[in-house]
Amino acid sequence: MEVRKIAYFSMEIGLNPAMPTYSGGLGVLAGDTVMAAADMKIPMAAVTLLYRKGYFYQRLEKDGWQTEEPVEWSPEDFAVRVEPKIIVTVEGRPVKVAAWEYPVKGIAGHTVPVYLLDTDLEENAPQDRHLTDTLYGWDARYRLSQEIILGIGGVRMLRALGHTKIERFHMNEGHASLLTVELLDEQLKGRQPETITADDVAAVRRQCVFTTHTPVAAGHDKFPMDLVRQLFGPHEAFALENVFCCGNQLNMTYLAMNLSHYVNGVAKQHGEVSRAMFEGYKIDAITNGVCPSRWTSEYFQQLFDKHIPGWREDNFSLRYALSISASEIADTHRLNKRRLIEHVNQQTNIGMDLDVLTLGFARRMTSYKRPDLLFTDCERLRSIVRQAGPIQIVYSGKAHPKDTDGKELIKKVFAAGRQLRSDIKIAYLPNYDMWTGQLLTAGVDIWLNTPQPPMEASGTSGMKAALNGVPSLSVLDGWWIEGCIEGVTGWAIGEDHHKPAQTDSKQDAEFLYDKLEKVVQLFYREPERFSTVMAHAIALNGSFFNTQRMMQQYVVKAYF
Ligand SMILES: *Cc1c(COP(=O)(O)O)cnc(C)c1O
Repeated sequence: MEVRKIAYFSMEIGLNPAMPTYSGGLGVLAGDTVMAAADMKIPMAAVTLLYRKGYFYQRLEKDGWQTEEPVEWSPEDFAVRVEPKIIVTVEGRPVKVAAWEYPVKGIAGHTVPVYLLDTDLEENAPQDRHLTDTLYGWDARYRLSQEIILGIGGVRMLRALGHTKIERFHMNEGHASLLTVELLDEQLKGRQPETITADDVAAVRRQCVFTTHTPVAAGHDKFPMDLVRQLFGPHEAFALENVFCCGNQLNMTYLAMNLSHYVNGVAKQHGEVSRAMFEGYKIDAITNGVCPSRWTSEYFQQLFDKHIPGWREDNFSLRYALSISASEIADTHRLNKRRLIEHVNQQTNIGMDLDVLTLGFARRMTSYKRPDLLFTDCERLRSIVRQAGPIQIVYSGKAHPKDTDGKELIKKVFAAGRQLRSDIKIAYLPNYDMWTGQLLTAGVDIWLNTPQPPMEASGTSGMKAALNGVPSLSVLDGWWIEGCIEGVTGWAIGEDHHKPAQTDSKQDAEFLYDKLEKVVQLFYREPERFSTVMAHAIALNGSFFNTQRMMQQYVVKAYF
């Protein structure tokens, strides 16, 4: 068997649009990371959970209210059950864990195996059989049980599969942090746990890499120590100073940071924000990317094949998109746009027009992403359309089942759609997934992004858009601080191009309307200049904000 040196652990990995093993950005990034590793022949194996019921299938009622259903799917259609089973103790019960292997194949044929852990085995008690059913479901007890299976079970499964030469364990977010405890136990090699030394801790740190993904508090798992002792059992490591934190809580982020030799945020600003959040820790930044072969539409793939042969192997060469004529780029985009508009019309019967400037907004529906910022002043929006030219908008996105505010936001978008119906067509595509994501990011004319700074750690959908020649109109937050060259690669929402917009949403809405008006005018009055911006989105942003560049940085800074 091929030797694997890096193990990549993630609570979710978006591998295939038909496999519901992801919820959003974190999982999509994990999938793109694994694909880039396969393309670059990096000796990696990845571990996640299977999720027989997925995250959820989103249904939207007439008023936009979201209801959730379990996803029905058959793992055997995609992955192969591998032999070994391992045992993890949860609440004193031995839980058997099996794995499914999904091989991710790179452009030159190298594969990265992804192991999806599964407890739905006859040998297990009924409650344990459900532990790998639902992503981000139920309560803290369920979540911690899943994280024990991922962290502890994941390491044991890799060993059982023969992966004994792993040099680095990369924790993609804190959910897998308990793997550090398993590595600590391995370090003891049968010695009494009381004898853990600073050298043992240092040996674990050498092996671990941690990436934090969000400044949002809810994104950092914390569990009461009572619950940890109950589910995990007692462990000497709990008493180690500067390992477990804090007080009566297990904070998965601190555990991961304490036991990793390299920690990073996912964009330059997010590195800064994380250093302020976690004082005293050394936190670097590696800006996220997306995998071009996955997110570039067929039409643009053909265009790049014609003009930039080798772009799949060498994503930097997308820089040469500047040598493709603006009209060819515009024509190719129109094919993507037609595909989107036909889908939207077929799904919603809204009658969108191929010639009308189309905005896209699709992401997790939650307060800080402010999907309703555009509707702060509907009169202003109407007047922009009257003066500068018509627009239409495609929305999509799920709210976490427990995020009531997020669900209300979907209703607000629906309400705005009704209110503006005679002036602006607004469609909402249900059940946002990677397939819809590709269709939307490639097919709209402008990708709209209005987060509340500095909450957007990176954001990746704008990078997918850039690969397809779709410029962003975005608040300066996350990756856009690095990717925006005003009027060249897209447009910033805000007065000062080097400072994040104010945290005042009214003010941000003003900035949004001012800039939108200019961009709509440009689109209709100077189409050649607009096409030049499209070319620069590919050449300057597509060539850099990709997972190939990102993986090179992980290799150099974190892995070896
Ligand atoms: C890319 C993607 C995301 C992440 O988008 P952000 O811009 O980071 O919010 C979420 N969900 C799906 C389905 C995606 O394809």
